[in-house]
This record gives sequence, C-alpha cells and structure tokens, in this order.
Amino acid sequence: GRSITVSEEVTPILGESGQFSHLVVVHDDITAQLEANNRLHWLATHDSLTGLTNRATFKEVLEHEIARLDRNHQSLAVHFIDLDGFKEINDSLGHQAGDELLKMVADLLQECARKSDLVSRFGGDEFAVLQIDTKDNEHVRLFTDRLLSVLNQRLQFGDNVAPCRASIGIALHPLDEATTNDAEALLDAADIALYEAKRHAPGSYVIYSSELGSRARDRIKLIDELEDALRDNQFSIAYQPQLDLVNHRISGLEALVRWQHPERGIISPAHFIPIAEESGLIMSLGRWIMNAVCNQAYQWQQAGLLQDRKIAINLSALQFRDPGFPDEVFEILKRTGLLPNALDLEITETALMESRHVYSTMDALHAEGVGFSVDDFGTGYSSMLYLKRMPIRQLKIDKEFTINCMKNTNDAEIVRAIIELAHNLKLTAIAEGVETAEHASKIREMGCDYAQGFYYSRPVDGVTCEKLLRHGLGPVGDAQQLY
Ligand code: C2E
Ligand code: CA
Ligand code: CA
Repeated sequence: GRSITVSEEVTPILGESGQFSHLVVVHDDITAQLEANNRLHWLATHDSLTGLTNRATFKEVLEHEIARLDRNHQSLAVHFIDLDGFKEINDSLGHQAGDELLKMVADLLQECARKSDLVSRFGGDEFAVLQIDTKDNEHVRLFTDRLLSVLNQRLQFGDNVAPCRASIGIALHPLDEATTNDAEALLDAADIALYEAKRHAPGSYVIYSSELGSRARDRIKLIDELEDALRDNQFSIAYQPQLDLVNHRISGLEALVRWQHPERGIISPAHFIPIAEESGLIMSLGRWIMNAVCNQAYQWQQAGLLQDRKIAINLSALQFRDPGFPDEVFEILKRTGLLPNALDLEITETALMESRHVYSTMDALHAEGVGFSVDDFGTGYSSMLYLKRMPIRQLKIDKEFTINCMKNTNDAEIVRAIIELAHNLKLTAIAEGVETAEHASKIREMGCDYAQGFYYSRPVDGVTCEKLLRHGLGPVGDAQQLY
C-alpha cells in the first residue's frame, strides 16, 4: 500500500547447453537508505533552521549562473543582508526568539524574491539573495528598496514584537574591474559593500565600486602593517603643552601617539587609530601608549618638572569599555611609579555614552586621583545630565570651534556657552586649536581657563618637551617644529 524505492539486480540464468533460460531479478528496498542520503545531501546544501540554501550552494549556483550569463550577456546581483542588533535580541529575548526572528526574515526574503532568485542563509544573521537576470541598476535598486521596506519595521516573531533593522551590501555582475569576475570575487565585493553599509549607512544599502574595493584592500594592508609596527616599535609619543591663561605657565601636556612608518614616514593618528579600533589592535596599542607615557612622566615627576601639572592620555571607547581597564591602569601606575593624580584621561562624549561600566570605571579611577577630561566637547551629545553625575574635571572645546570662532559667530557662541557650562558645573575649560594671537585673546576674553594649540607649541618629542618644561614656552608664536 505504499511506494518504495528499490534497486534492481538482474542476473540471466543459462541452461545446460548454454542457452538463455530465465532471469533472476532481485529487488532491494533502499527507501530508508535513499531518504538518509537525500537528507544528508539536503543538510549539506541547506540551513536546517530556515530551510534556505547555505553558502556552499549559493556559491555553486552563482558560479553556474555567471557562466550562463556570460554567454547571454545578461546581468545579476548579489545582495548580502545583515541584521543590525541581532545579538541584542538574542541576548535579551533568548535564543529561541532569535531563531524565530531568523525564520521570519527568511520567509520575508523569499516572499520578496522571484522564483528564479536564490535566497540563502550564510550563518548567524547573514543572508544572501542572488537576483538573476537583472535588467539594469534601477531594477536592482527597486528590489533592494523593497527588501529594506519589508525588513526595516517592527516584526512579529513567535510571541515577540521587536524593531528590526537590516543593512545590505550589493555586488553587481560584471564588477567594474578588469580583474577576476568569478563567484569568489563577487562574494568578496558584496561583503565589502555590506561592511561599508553597516558602518556608514546602517539600515540602508551600499553598492560595491572599485573605489570601495581599493579602500578595503588599503585597510587590510594597514592592519598588517600596524601589527608589524607594534612588534618593531615604530610608535613614539609627542607631547603638546597646555597653557594656564592666568599665570602663563605650562599647566599640563597632552600625549599624542606618532607612527614612524618605515616607508611612508609619519602617519597621522587620525588615520590609523580608527583602523586600530576596528581591528581590535587598539587594546595592545593603547597599553603600549599608556606604558610609554607613564614611564616618561615618572622621570619628569622625579626631576620635579611635573608639579601641579597633569599629563593627558587619549582613550579609545574600546579601552574604556573593557571592565578590566581600571586595574590595568593601576598596574601600569604601580609598575612605572607615576602618581595617579598626575594622570588625566581624555575621552570623547560619544565614548562616554557608549560604555556600560562608565560609572564604575570612572569612580574606581577617580578614587585614586586620576582625572577625566571630555574631549572634542560640543560635537557629541552635549547632555548636561551625565556631566553632573560623572567625576569629570574639565571640558575640552573641540578645535574646530576655536579655529572658526573668529569668522563664525555661531561657533563663537558655542565656545562661550561651553565655557559657561563648564564654570556652572565647577569644571575647567580648555580650548584646543589655538592657532593665532587673535584666537588666544578671544578665548581669554571669554574666560577660558586653559589653552592648547600651534600658537603656543606644536606637539614635540620628549627631549624638546623636557626643555619646555624646564625653561617655559619662550616667546609665544615661535612655533616648535611640527612633530
Ligand atoms: P585630539 O585628541 O583632538 O588631539 C588634538 C589634535 O589636534 C592633535 O592631532 C594635535 O596635533 C592637533 N592640534 C593641536 N593643536 C592644534 C592647532 O592649533 N590647530 C590644529 N589644526 N590642530 C591642532 P593629532 O596628534 O594628529 O591627533 C589626531 C587625533 O588622533 C587626536 O585628536 C586623537 O583623537 C587621536 N589620537 C592621538 N593620539 C592618540 C592616542 O595616543 N590614543 C588614542 N586613542 N587616540 C589618539
Ligand atoms: Ca585629545
Ligand atoms: Ca580634541
């Protein structure tokens, strides 16, 4: 009463004189075997949670389609889709809810796609759609817009409702590059576009271009070189004096890292710090910087050059977020011998808002005498509430405001407001980016407490800095060598 699959084996039986006599047919029921085999094949080519095809299958189909299209002069698009904040949903609502959401997304993607398109799950919260026979870029854009409008809303999955946000990276075949145009190259290109979307256009999409590709390759090269630089000691520290606007003495120093690249010369931290952050290298680089600065500062402290002066170190949000950070600082202070009250940590507003352990981290360090300045103040949230609750001693006015305060009345008002805010909260204010005598008199007239900028001194190496600490800044305007 049921159908089965059999394998058939037929053997001819010959008579005594060698003539054909009859056949022996053996039917073997292989239904179970075949099912197991199919199941195995299905598992090897699909994602068991969503039932979508997996990465290997996607690549195989893509290869096949590229070969077919190259003959027919048609086009295709690879869409990489990644859910923003999926980890948070998983962590807060549980894995089961996370799985429900992934299944929901899989269904939505399949509803948007045509029959001939291929929808896959690559793992985690990463999906891909192979859009076949695209007519033009407009066609691709329309499809992407549809995907985004379906995904970027409050989704109901299982017993939960939560907002969902997806970012999409797209690679169009053929890539606008003379190089390889195989499946691997397209997948890499979509990956680069997705990375760019997540970073600069979350909740939206980015289409791969050769310019994006060369930037991505530069970034990978730089990460490699950063690793070498850490190993080969290519970093050094520059120090920029800060001036007390009342008594005209050096009130402190800001430590700024420098990278002496063996071929390219000095590379700006504005260029390599973001890449060190992305790659996680900032943790070891940050540790190296703190060690180097504390060592140097201890020597100046021993020589009596640091009395009442603080030395400021810039912190990355990633360092600050690490729950082990305060202990790391204490360990370095202990090892180098530097007194904690000589240390000031500069952190941006954005980094302050991002950190979960911000209060406990700051309180632990503050209790030992370490100070905090809010860097680039005015460019971030500028919420007074956190300033009142945190042990902050100083606001650093972002240099753009200082530099523009002569020609832009709006920026001048911002500088004035930050100084007022600082004083109302019993904090000090320091203006960075003081480049001219006009800047200097303007901020002094506004009641700013401290100043830092090229007008007084450029960042200088340790030896030059020691001279400045001993003998003062000299005639102002006699700018130091750029370092
Ligand atoms: P930042 O913390 O805002 O540092 C001030 C930057 O302004 C420095 O650039 C400094 O050389 C520059 N500067 C000082 N005076 C003037 C001036 O009068 N006019 C102008 N136009 N610029 C002035 P630098 O050294 O290239 O550093 C760039 C950024 O890189 C820093 O901005 C900081 O965000 C980051 N950075 C530098 N050193 C470190 C470090 O050791 N650790 C971390 N995490 N970040 C660092
Ligand atoms: Ca700074
Ligand atoms: Ca700054």
